[in-house]
Amino acid sequence: RGKWERMLRVLKELEEGCDTPVWRLKQVVDAVAVEMHAGLASEGGSKIRMLLTFVDNLPSGKEKGTYYALDLGGTYFRVMQVQLGGHRSSILAHEVERYPIPEHLLISRSEGLFDFIASVFKQFVERNKNGYECSLDKRRDLGFTFSFPVKQTTVSSGILMKWTKGFAIEDMVGREVAECLQEALIKKGINIRVAALVNDTVGTLALGHYHDADTVAAVVFGTGTNACYLERTDAIIKCQGLLTTSGCMVVNMEWGNFWSSHLPRTMYDVELDADSPNPNYQGFEKMISGMYLGEIVRRIILRMSLESDFFGTISSKLSTPFILRTPLMAALCEDNSPDLVEVARVLKDILEVPDVPLKVRKLLVDVCDVVTRRAARLAAAGIVGILKKIGRDGNGGIASGRRSRDDTKMRTVVAVEGSLYTNYLMFRDYLNEAVVEILGEEVAQHVTLKVMDDGSGIGAALVVASNSLRE
Ligand code: ADP
Repeated sequence: RGKWERMLRVLKELEEGCDTPVWRLKQVVDAVAVEMHAGLASEGGSKIRMLLTFVDNLPSGKEKGTYYALDLGGTYFRVMQVQLGGHRSSILAHEVERYPIPEHLLISRSEGLFDFIASVFKQFVERNKNGYECSLDKRRDLGFTFSFPVKQTTVSSGILMKWTKGFAIEDMVGREVAECLQEALIKKGINIRVAALVNDTVGTLALGHYHDADTVAAVVFGTGTNACYLERTDAIIKCQGLLTTSGCMVVNMEWGNFWSSHLPRTMYDVELDADSPNPNYQGFEKMISGMYLGEIVRRIILRMSLESDFFGTISSKLSTPFILRTPLMAALCEDNSPDLVEVARVLKDILEVPDVPLKVRKLLVDVCDVVTRRAARLAAAGIVGILKKIGRDGNGGIASGRRSRDDTKMRTVVAVEGSLYTNYLMFRDYLNEAVVEILGEEVAQHVTLKVMDDGSGIGAALVVASNSLRE
């Protein structure tokens, strides 16, 4: 009996530790908006870096031509070719191929990684030559999606500030990212110019805006999480005298590193952070994104197994970090079978703990639910934080001084990408529901979250195309 009660106590403590009532979410919203201001006010003014992207004109739909895109930033590396016909909503064709990145390349030297990328790209170009409709004498342009914090100097160049998401190629930090790719392409004899360097959120925003001009922000929930949005240049105080024709610039928030004392944190988060390669960084990301959710749950199950003998002797698998990947955790959470057969299967096959009683399996489903729900609701608070900063939250924003009655009626679209959101229905439902809860139904009517499939890559090609329209 005692051991069952200890298990229940673990769950109860978890529920309390992860609680996200709407009042707390609103504190997070405020904290996000405040940190955005601080990050715009001075370099290093906030844990959210609020990086300039030098993307000042978002695609309008008039873009034309054939472009390439490379997308690096998570589990897979993607290559694509995008044909634009010059009419909104008519991306004529796009070819996508994705490749897993050999794990040893994530922790080796930069040449290894970029040579790999260049050779994969070369093969792709050769395979897709037939689809090539432009004359061959024209130089090709490529958009490079590189989803790590980059200190950008122009739309096509920037320096890597820090790795995230398990990448750790030390000689790359501080180097020009586009140059590394350009050199690797030249070495392989590929005559293609790296004409834009963007991150996945900027790509997603570009694709969102291409389809719908009311798109003002983009968020990604995949291996990691991040957001960007369109800001007025005069609000970017840390960069006085920044002039763009549109009067705006896309700001890459790097919100994965957001932190606030209002975030509901548990001992599992603290321990996960301490054991990670980047302790004290990416705190928001570690509570929200696909790389970590399964790992949080593994730590809770391990704790439960230490509190009781329901799991038999502790398997070495259960003690292995990151063995429970988030899609498997999602499968546990979404197991609707009366006997929880999927839960039993994952416990047995992945964690090597067979014969866990049904009532304990039920408890584990609750654990997954708690972790998923917290992640999705915090993600929602992040989105509303952006809306608050730009005065689209129904309150005219903080210190905007521009409040007009119509601001609240303005249609606002947020582009969303990432498999955590697109493939994990419960995460998506919890997130969407929390956005409405925080904003209230009235305001939420004017806010739409739109999925942009392959936005990160296609968008990079669109940024190249829209810049070349202006050249
Ligand atoms: P990227 O690695 O470029 O961010 P994705 O957007 O595809 O690419 O995100 C991959 C992440 O999404 C994985 O780390 C995984 O944790 C998560 N994910 C993928 N499918 C699911 C799923 N069905 N349920 C929950 N999480 C998923």
